[in-house]
This record gives sequence, C-alpha cells and structure tokens, in this order.
Amino acid sequence: MGIGSLIGTEESRLGDPLADLDTASSGGRLDVVELMGEPDEVDTFTRDLLEDVDTAWTRMFGTDGDYHESTRVVFREFTDSACNGADQDAGPHYCPADEVLYLDQAFFDRIFERRDEDEGVGSFAEAWLLAHLVGHHVQHQLGITEQVQQLSGDLSEQFELQADCLAGVWGFTLAQRGVLIGADTLDEATALLAEIGAEQVSEPVSGSLRPEDWGHATAAQRVEWFLRGYESGDPTQCDPFAGG
Ligand SMILES: [Zn+2]
Repeated sequence: MGIGSLIGTEESRLGDPLADLDTASSGGRLDVVELMGEPDEVDTFTRDLLEDVDTAWTRMFGTDGDYHESTRVVFREFTDSACNGADQDAGPHYCPADEVLYLDQAFFDRIFERRDEDEGVGSFAEAWLLAHLVGHHVQHQLGITEQVQQLSGDLSEQFELQADCLAGVWGFTLAQRGVLIGADTLDEATALLAEIGAEQVSEPVSGSLRPEDWGHATAAQRVEWFLRGYESGDPTQCDPFAGG
C-alpha cells in the first residue's frame, strides 16, 4: 500500500488495509444481544456486548485473519497501563501498546444514570462507546494506528471517524438480528457521549492519538460515519482518509 505517496489523490492515504475483511453481511447468525439490560447488570451487559463485537470482528477477519479478542480493564481514578497509566481524566480509552480497553467507571456511571431515565439511549450510548473502542482495536490490528502516527499532519479526526464507522459495521450485525437503531437514538446517544465527555475527560492518553473527548468532529459527522458502517455492513466503506 502506498503510504504518503497518495496524498492529494482521491485514493486513500492509508492504502487499503480494510480490503481483506469480509463484510458483516456474509456471515452466519450471531446470538441476539439484549440491548435493554437492567442498570444493575452493567458488568454482564458490558461483557456480553464486548463479546458480541469481538465475535463480529473475528468473523470479518476470517479464519486466517488472526483477530485478537479485546481485553477490558474497568478502573476508578487510576490504574497502570502500557500507555503510562490510565487516568480517569482521560475517560474510557484504548491503549494500543497493551491492546486493552480501559473503561473508566465514573464515565460509565453517568451513562447508567441516563439509562435509568431513558433505557434505549443510555444502552445504545454504551454500545456505541464500546464498539468505537473496539474499532480502535481493529485499527491497531490492521496497522492503521501505526500508519497514522507515522504520517505527517493531524489525521486524528479521520482516525476517530473511522472508529465510529467500524462501530457502525457492528451495528449492521445488530440490525441483521432485528435490533434497529433509530435516527433519534443515534442523535441523542452522540449528544450524551459528548456531554459526558465534556464534563469528565480532560487529558490525552499517552500512546494514543488524542483524548477520547467524544466531542471530536461534529455530532453530524460522527453520526454520518456511524451510518456509513451501519447501512453497508462493509468495513471498506470506512475510509475517511480517502480523498485527502
Ligand atoms: Zn476514539
């Protein structure tokens, strides 16, 4: 893949690392995820959700794809990590160096509060957040994270939008199973994540491209890229780096 030499063309600056993935639509049936868990079942809900997202990506990577399932660490305040530690000021984030999703409990507490008031939006916001973080795990395994870090210029916004699109590809597998995500829910979940992010996230993560502020890009862009993955089920559609 021609990295760097493609700048200014309609081709992707990253080549085509997603090309070898199968589309989500080609696989068999997954177990149905119940998106409407009780707030006190948070650990079960989170675990089931991550397992479901991992299952979808394992299938898309294929039998030769060697997808590594994600690992999660739930923490309050601070915990050690290969990214110089996970601090609550950084919020939930993915650390490529140890391939762990660091889930800041204080951030999730806020989502669960909302889930008490509006179960659909709260549940979906959590699902989006987790699928987005696994999206970073996918980017890391495809070598995209490392390419972006080496390229000149700030591509962090495209990098985040790609993770949203990859989250949408997982959302497509939900839709296949009859769990549909409405436009209102998408908008409200984006707004909820941005609101909590603005309040709770203030520090970048060492080793990551930027803080997961959830206010990156515009809400409209985030929804647009999620929908790209959600409507196509095709990870090759998730290339915000194209046309650079
Ligand atoms: Zn992100």
